[in-house]
Order: sequence, then C-alpha cells, then structure tokens
Amino acid sequence: MADGDMGRWGRRAVLRRTALLAGGAVLGVAATAQSTWIADRRLALAGGPSSATLGNRHQQVGAGAVEVTWGVQTGERFVALTFDDGPRPHWTPMVLDTLARYAVPATFFLIGEQARQHAALVRDRLGGHEVGNHSWAHHDLARMNAHAAYDDLKRSHDAIAEATGVAPRLLRPPWGHLGGAVLHAAARLDYRLVLWTLQMVEREFPHDPTGHARRIVADVQPGTILLGHDVGTEQRLVALRGLPDMITGLRARGYTFVTVSQLLRRAAVV
Ligand SMILES: [Zn+2]
Repeated sequence: MADGDMGRWGRRAVLRRTALLAGGAVLGVAATAQSTWIADRRLALAGGPSSATLGNRHQQVGAGAVEVTWGVQTGERFVALTFDDGPRPHWTPMVLDTLARYAVPATFFLIGEQARQHAALVRDRLGGHEVGNHSWAHHDLARMNAHAAYDDLKRSHDAIAEATGVAPRLLRPPWGHLGGAVLHAAARLDYRLVLWTLQMVEREFPHDPTGHARRIVADVQPGTILLGHDVGTEQRLVALRGLPDMITGLRARGYTFVTVSQLLRRAAVV
C-alpha cells in the first residue's frame, strides 16, 4: 500500500517495525528491513472484498473448490498464448488474422461489455481458440464484495456466451487482482482462475517488434502461459506486429501452441 493510501485512514494507525538485519559486518553497512501494517482496522469477518465467506448461512459455491493457475509444469514444449481486454475493432481482427495464417490457437480473456458491443468481431472467428472471462468492464474485482464480484462476472459470462456461442470456463481477474471475494464468486461460477507466467514487455522494445519477439522467444519455458493484449495503447503494437516472429521463433525452438485448457490437461506430464 502506498503512503498516499495510508493517509485515507485518517489516523496514526500504522505501526512500523524496523529490524536490523545481520550481515552488515560482511557488507560493511547496516541493512534495514521494514514491514508495515494497519493495526486498528480489521478486515471484515465476512462480506468484504478480502473475505472468501459470506457468513454463517449455507453458501452456494458450485463444485465447492476453485483452482488458481499461473502456468503448468511439463517436460513437453507447450506454450499457451493469451490475449486480454478484447474484443475491440482496432487490433483484434489483426491478431485473429495472424493466428489464422499460422494456425495458432490462443485463449482470449474477453471483457463482457465489449463482447456484447463487438460480437460481430469474434462471431464465427474463434474456432480452435478458447475464451475466458476478464470481467464485465475491467473494474477491480479485488475491491468488490462477493455478491458484487459474482454479479459482475455472471453478467460478463452471459454476454461472452451469447457473443461467442461458448460459455467460458476460465477467469482471469483484471490486473491479476485477487481477493477472497473473487475466489468465492469464481467458485460459484465453477471457474478456474488463470493468471500467467510471462508477459509481453512492449515498453522495453519501443518500435522494435523483432527485438521484442526475440526476447519473448528466449524467455518462454515449457508450460508457459504468455500474457498479451489485443487492446490498449499504440505501444502494444510492438508485440502484435512481432507476433509472426514470435510464432516462428517459438516453433523453431520446438514449441507447440495450445489453448490454456489444453495446457492444463498437460499438467501431470512432467
Ligand atoms: Zn486486462
């Protein structure tokens, strides 16, 4: 939590603990570690964004369990390419064209509101691809209670299912923000939570799609879930324009592209 956020609590509620770490003698300087927490504001026992329970009534939580996945441990060279925040008219068609040209399956974590608005962009174009839920309007689910998070995700779920003809089974919360309430809502919807192990680093390669692709190709490991975006600032085009190089480079290293669900089925193959 940033200091600016601390100010909002309005009281001198922060306890600071400073510990002098050993090792100063070796380095010739004293190393200082500091941890900070809020002492006088309890998180809600039930009902707030952090709680994964709704209280003492019986809870409807679907199958009753939810898994969170960052990537998969496998001895085989599989990689799952994922695109968040679409669909939007600017670049989603270009990404779909590139994937079709190279016969690469990918997983699209869609924004429900945009899936409804731009259904024509993805209708009949997602064969071989997978869709996941990325919330209704990219609001921060980690700031919602379980009811609000559920309502947001269910609305998005229905819009994505209607736009694509496929009911998503995967959820990626915006920014990877994850509170207990998101887990609760995900369980109710029988979602599997999918984060990522590696993401595009467009900012490090301005106007250099080839350099960016080379970097990603070098960093992918077996079982990587790779995060990209088919929506965003112009800067993101570095990754999208370099997609052909990325695909051919990874294939040259022996990688096969799969959807996230196909990758998850490989989880036991180590
Ligand atoms: Zn996003």
